Amino acid sequence: MLERHTREYVETRVRAGVLEQGTVDVLCDSGVGARLKREGLQHQGIELRFDRSGHRIDFRELVGKSITVYAQQEVVKDLIAARLAYQAPIYFEAEAVRIENCENEPEIHYQHNGQSHEIACDFIAGCDGFHGICRPAVPPNKLQIHEKYYPFAWLGILARTPPASHELIYTYHERGFALLSMRSPEISRLYLQCAPEEDISLWPDERIWEELRTRMATQEGFVLKDGPILQKGVTPMRSFVATPMQFGKLFLLGDAAHIVPPTGAKGLNLAVADVRVLTRGLVEFYKRGDREPLRQFTDRCLRRVWRCQRFSWWMTSMLHRFPNEDSFSHNIHHAELDYVASSRAASTTLAENYVGLPFDTPGLF
Ligand SMILES: Cc1cc2nc3c(=O)[nH]c(=O)nc-3n(C[C@H](O)[C@H](O)[C@H](O)COP(=O)(O)OP(=O)(O)OC[C@H]3O[C@@H](n4cnc5c(N)ncnc54)[C@H](O)[C@@H]3O)c2cc1C
Repeated sequence: MLERHTREYVETRVRAGVLEQGTVDVLCDSGVGARLKREGLQHQGIELRFDRSGHRIDFRELVGKSITVYAQQEVVKDLIAARLAYQAPIYFEAEAVRIENCENEPEIHYQHNGQSHEIACDFIAGCDGFHGICRPAVPPNKLQIHEKYYPFAWLGILARTPPASHELIYTYHERGFALLSMRSPEISRLYLQCAPEEDISLWPDERIWEELRTRMATQEGFVLKDGPILQKGVTPMRSFVATPMQFGKLFLLGDAAHIVPPTGAKGLNLAVADVRVLTRGLVEFYKRGDREPLRQFTDRCLRRVWRCQRFSWWMTSMLHRFPNEDSFSHNIHHAELDYVASSRAASTTLAENYVGLPFDTPGLF
């Protein structure tokens, strides 16, 4: 297992935080769920906010499930601790620079402590994110790319202030989308829709808090207390799928194979679902010599990937203000929010997808 950053860097990198029930189950079944069960915040629903009013989508009542808020860096800490505890190596500050011979006897070439090394592999799990080297190791003529860019981005902050709501609030406002989320009872995570090329230096802390308050204001006088901003950054929004997710003995998992806009909170969950499929395939191969589940890796992953892409695209389209939206599109947009908030059938559709599609149902591994 190679990681180009330090252990400290990956254990403090702030990213996702919403875990589906299926992801929680996978982590618990894998023996890394103790702290997650203790410290994770269980949420039974979310709020959709528009026209200065909130509409709760009650997951528990609609689909009998919940989500857990537990920061991605905490999952990473738990996984690293578990692996090191059973003496399996992780090389930190080890950068993979080249992958060769994927179809026969794959090799990873990497740099560690200023020296070049190589690993001879049975298989390679390409879990190196969107900018890694695994996807580019597949010949371009063997890979199909499906992608979509959105005309906006998210300006995200991490702030030391107790969340103003105990559940996530997704807000649609004329000035753009806003999201209130959290990482713990003391730390809030908040986002604002901004331009894709937004210059973060134009956003001093005061301006961020003021814009959040404007977009999230309600008739009842919603109060958003500010606090020290610990981190801020701009995240582009894109949908991306590379198929097939395997080439010879190299498998692409998580962001190496697909990216979703973060509105549906699916990225980390999809990565875990891919890992689950690959792990099961490897177990079948090493225990019984059966290669078939590994051959089917792409097909087993892709149906979930596209379902999550559809949901993430839909949430993104519904909740963001598009530049140059004409009055017809604007009214349709508004009607969609109104329908989701007021129809049990439409709310159930949102809830079912948000809490995560179940594993091991026909076609969904
Ligand atoms: C701001 C933000 C908010 C998000 N919110 C959510 C959310 O709420 N819910 C959700 O489910 N998802 C969310 N996501 C998405 C989620 O964080 C990603 O989908 C997830 O991290 C993907 O995991 P991964 O393991 O595939 O890739 P990564 O987490 O990117 O891990 C890849 C690792 O490979 C390492 N690496 C890369 N290249 C090399 C190399 N050459 N050699 C060695 N190591 C290498 C990298 O350093 C990195 O540690 C969010 C993302 C962002 C940016």
